[in-house]
Amino acid sequence: MAWFKRQSGDLEPSAEKKIRTEGLWVKCENCRQIIWKKDLEENLNVCPKCGKHFRIDARTRLANLFDNGEYERFSDNLASTDPLKFADLKPYSERLHKAQEETGLTDAVINARGKLNGRPVIVSAMEYGFIGGSMGCVVGEVITRAIERALASREPLIIVSASGGARMMEGVLSLMQLAKISAALARLDEARVPYISVLTDPTTGGVTASFAMLGDLNIAEPGALIGFAGPRVIEQTIRQKLPPGFQRSEFLLEHGMLDAVVHRKELKGYISRALDFMTSAVSHQSSAVS
Ligand SMILES: [Zn+2]
Repeated sequence: MAWFKRQSGDLEPSAEKKIRTEGLWVKCENCRQIIWKKDLEENLNVCPKCGKHFRIDARTRLANLFDNGEYERFSDNLASTDPLKFADLKPYSERLHKAQEETGLTDAVINARGKLNGRPVIVSAMEYGFIGGSMGCVVGEVITRAIERALASREPLIIVSASGGARMMEGVLSLMQLAKISAALARLDEARVPYISVLTDPTTGGVTASFAMLGDLNIAEPGALIGFAGPRVIEQTIRQKLPPGFQRSEFLLEHGMLDAVVHRKELKGYISRALDFMTSAVSHQSSAVS
């Protein structure tokens, strides 16, 4: 895809990667064009010049997916108890408090129920702005509850991942969430309720290693960083230069790790068509059985 290739020199990997949220103009880090912020927002936060998909927060994601941006939230009263009383440069409890203030969320995921092109669905959307979208006990429990609700109501489940992986401040308790969510998804699979995984920039670590890759359909946004360990860690370990585009959506699609790479503008329609297909197959099968 020509638009994704860099047209000029290398980007500095350590360069500031945050979208500037102040002011009327935003500089695209891919094509380096200056974009009017309103144009960017109207274009679903995709660069109108080069198609780069900017990161969006969980609420914007939910508003984009649900009809008229309307949805009902559930399981949003859980917060971490800091079980290990962890402290690194500063105490985990302080980090939690700051993240809660900044995002207005209790942890890094929102569960929502609403309609997608008229069909009731359950969506769990991860919030990268909350300690890097990391998965601790609360994220594990909230996503599990979304799965259990989908199981009880037989409504399709969509999980939108945006995560740096397991939350190190909760140690092994974070890692246990991989098994817990995977077990819940296995029950959903047995019940033949569809699950679509949407991988957005970035989806790494324990999230990639569990539910993000367990969808009946695993689809990603263009140019998203998706992997287990980061490219720099792998390069340092194997002492080899990685090929261009390694761990980006398009590379993973070519190598069979993803089912599709879907532009943000087409995401809702794509999910809707996929669910049409999946649910008609299920009803056909159950009628054949009975
Ligand atoms: Zn651009």
